[in-house]
Amino acid sequence: MKRKIIILFFLILAGIGIMAMLEILSRRCPNLIRREYPDCSYLIEKYIRGKKGDLFDLTSYNILPRKSREVDLDRVIEDWIFEVEKEDIKGYNGIACGSYGFVSRELPRFSKNYVKAHEALHLLGYENETLVNYKAGLRHPAGLIQTVLYTFFLAFEGQKFRDYPCVLGNLWAGFKKYFFELKLN
Ligand SMILES: [Zn+2]
Repeated sequence: MKRKIIILFFLILAGIGIMAMLEILSRRCPNLIRREYPDCSYLIEKYIRGKKGDLFDLTSYNILPRKSREVDLDRVIEDWIFEVEKEDIKGYNGIACGSYGFVSRELPRFSKNYVKAHEALHLLGYENETLVNYKAGLRHPAGLIQTVLYTFFLAFEGQKFRDYPCVLGNLWAGFKKYFFELKLN
């Protein structure tokens, strides 16, 4: 009994130590995973203007009325979310650009459905990443798990071994933003 308590104590201590290390790394490290933000006007130009043919004006940001949250999410995904080349969104799984959402074509199946729902919720005016994450996760629980795993392993792709601690720090910062900063907006 006493031995179990001692082991438990050291496990908790190790957990706190690891979290403290990740916290320090996340604050000190440069962002190695997402060095630059994707270019929304480039994405709109490449994937929408050509296809839709109509004159899309970047200033008409709210074509899809924000606050119209009763709109069917599947319809939003169908009409306003576009699949794009991985290179065009610079290490992001998906992004929301005004009235349009872009999702990496390379994502595995469940993950892609989850990320589409995630971006569609942004288009409907939900901004808090944690809230959007949980809402999309309720619709696609397997997609949420697949996205976490995919994001984790992809982050190390092409990185130098000596940069791995910073990659972990970056992942930790993202993990907190996407799971522990809940605001009900
Ligand atoms: Zn998001």
